[in-house]
Amino acid sequence: MDIKSIIDGNEKFRKNKFKKYEEKFVDLVQKGQKPKVLYIGCSDSRVLPHLITNTGPGDLFIVRNIGNFVAPFKPDEDYHSTAAAIEYAVSVLQVSEIIVCGHSHCGAIAALYDRPDGAEMIHVRKWLGLGNEAKKYIETNSTTKGLSLEKKLAMTEKISVVFQLTHLLTYPKIQELVNAGKMNLRGWYYKIESGDIEYYNEELQEFVSMGIKIEH
Ligand SMILES: [Zn+2]
Repeated sequence: MDIKSIIDGNEKFRKNKFKKYEEKFVDLVQKGQKPKVLYIGCSDSRVLPHLITNTGPGDLFIVRNIGNFVAPFKPDEDYHSTAAAIEYAVSVLQVSEIIVCGHSHCGAIAALYDRPDGAEMIHVRKWLGLGNEAKKYIETNSTTKGLSLEKKLAMTEKISVVFQLTHLLTYPKIQELVNAGKMNLRGWYYKIESGDIEYYNEELQEFVSMGIKIEH
């Protein structure tokens, strides 16, 4: 899609879809936003949080980055955009649910196995380090020996989500709320090719389908 189509798209949005949501937007402006859910997902253009969850204005507070990674809590003076979004969602918006949503065919996870070179990729390389635990887990797990790269990538995409949930627990406020039973952390895995979402079942320690099978 070219830039002209995107610019024209706003005109179409104002003429058509905005009308449908106008009342809702006005209400959200007057009363302010109060989303109950923080969604942390990948920047991938094929994974659209509102589309895949059938949500709309005011429903999700969203932060997206490459790989849907969460950097562990690090209280220093550096710029931490994902941590800032997490802090704001938890302390100001007081969300009670945090979803970390990974997905199939994730370029960030694939890049863990095929590192990008070049000085211009300095931030990407550093950021991808947040996926190293997941890659190491898969590479040192005896059950993954001999598996195809495709299978290993899918497993890494999933286990990385679980590691990011543990990173969320390094934020003192999140740890406190989870301990008090006031917050749920959810690990999701979205399949681009089918639209299905699997969730991480802590008891089973695996990802299971979210619900009823829909025939495509
Ligand atoms: Zn991705």
